[in-house]
Amino acid sequence: MYDILIIGAGVVGCALARKLSQYEGKIAVLDRAEDVADGASKANSGIVHAGFDAKPGTKKAYYNVKGAKMYGALAKQLGVPYDPIGALVLGFSEEDRLTLQKLYDQGKVNGVEQLRIIEHDEIMALEPNTNPAAVCALYAPTSAVVSPYEMTLALSYHAAQNGVEFIFDCPVEKIYEENDTWHVETPKGTLSARAIVNCAGVGAAALHNMISDQPVEIVPRRGEYYLLDHTVKCPFGRTMFQVPSKMGKGVLISPTAHGNALLGPSAEDIDDAYDTATTRKGLDFVLDKCRLTWPKVNIRPVITTFSGVRAHPTSDDFIIGAVHGAPDNAFEAIGIESPGLTAAPAIAEELGEMVAEHLKLPAARMVKAPVPLLHPFFAMTEEERAAACKKNPDYGRIVCRCEVVTEAEIRDAIRRPVGAKSIDGVKRRTRAGMGRCQGGFCSPRVMEILCEELKCSPLDITKCGGESKLLAGTLDDIAKEARGHE
Ligand SMILES: Cc1cc2nc3c(=O)[nH]c(=O)nc-3n(C[C@H](O)[C@H](O)[C@H](O)COP(=O)(O)OP(=O)(O)OC[C@H]3O[C@@H](n4cnc5c(N)ncnc54)[C@H](O)[C@@H]3O)c2cc1C
Repeated sequence: MYDILIIGAGVVGCALARKLSQYEGKIAVLDRAEDVADGASKANSGIVHAGFDAKPGTKKAYYNVKGAKMYGALAKQLGVPYDPIGALVLGFSEEDRLTLQKLYDQGKVNGVEQLRIIEHDEIMALEPNTNPAAVCALYAPTSAVVSPYEMTLALSYHAAQNGVEFIFDCPVEKIYEENDTWHVETPKGTLSARAIVNCAGVGAAALHNMISDQPVEIVPRRGEYYLLDHTVKCPFGRTMFQVPSKMGKGVLISPTAHGNALLGPSAEDIDDAYDTATTRKGLDFVLDKCRLTWPKVNIRPVITTFSGVRAHPTSDDFIIGAVHGAPDNAFEAIGIESPGLTAAPAIAEELGEMVAEHLKLPAARMVKAPVPLLHPFFAMTEEERAAACKKNPDYGRIVCRCEVVTEAEIRDAIRRPVGAKSIDGVKRRTRAGMGRCQGGFCSPRVMEILCEELKCSPLDITKCGGESKLLAGTLDDIAKEARGHE
């Protein structure tokens, strides 16, 4: 019997788990995937939005601005890559100027600081690669970039350090309440708890509608991206937006927190919420839009394309709190589309307090401080590298040549609480496989290290859980099968 079951190990579920781990109670986070950050939290723009986009008075506006203000300190505490680079929203006509003025006014009402409308000359001085046709821009110096999956991982590590259990490959199929207890049915069995919190992203509406007489609708809205090699400098130092459309914040070009250039996203409503394919149509749309910001757009240094799926609520606002029309002690943070990454710390802060208060959970007697993410070898000075190798010789073996990731870092990523179990799990924790060759060289060695650490066969190792096995069988098996056919 748990006190709280959180469904969904994205940035919202993990931030909430971390907050609730500061109270006495037995808490578990369940996810259908094999790792944290398998949904929108791993595939987004990674922008900590300043907060001028959302309509004043909405939950989006409130949690965006509150979350953005929390981010710098949180990222520092957890050791997550974060850079307050600022953002420009470009305007190319007098009509755009009116939209920018509206965004400026909204931002002011929402409480965004330092916003300014700037003119052509200042844009070109700040960002010389901008299309000279830009006439004005909204400048938001408080906008930042963060590594979204590392933030989610770091939140989960801290929650686990303070006793939260993570249960993966555990899709919730049914929820019901009986005698003041919530029951959650999964293929791993039925789990029971005093309270549940639905943070299931694109899967959240199905769960909400099982327990509430006030149904919600969440539309999966896919966004596709190009990611460029960070060895080629991003042409812009800030995040470059265009004026938003009714489908979202529009296409941006931005340096990521790791210095790659990111181009995207598109916005397309899709039927299958887990279809993260990229398409010619989506990528052409991105490229076409990017030309307006960066006429000399160059995608020769592209190393990969990817897509993420937004959980777009038809009500157009976040749905946060006790579940309306459901029995007591059911809570949710759903319809968390953009700016959900930014808002997550603030959502967790307030929803966590609400849940703890309802259950009358006392504050934990002892809360362990987070162990920050490792200082990456690639960012160390020569002296730091020498010292690291002396302390642990595994630092002396480079596994991923593109991103300069060592065996020590890969073993640490697997051994941590909520450790990596797959090739992608190692990739998100260490960047091994994130570079120019996209894992072409390092995947076999990463696989060997996973086998050594997890004491399993290479045949068990997957790219990202489920059926994504990397090896089809042994040569012996194949020879036997061939003999059988003779
Ligand atoms: C293209 C794109 C760009 C974006 N850009 C930004 C940005 O720049 N800045 C920003 O602030 N926000 C951005 N966002 C929004 C942000 O990514 C999301 O708001 C945030 O990641 C949502 O987190 P979450 O935890 O609610 O959902 P998710 O990360 O999707 O997590 C939900 C989890 O629930 C699990 N799950 C689902 N159903 C079940 C079930 N039945 N049983 C068990 N587990 C289940 C899933 O496996 C998943 O891990 C963007 C989103 C997208 C898609």
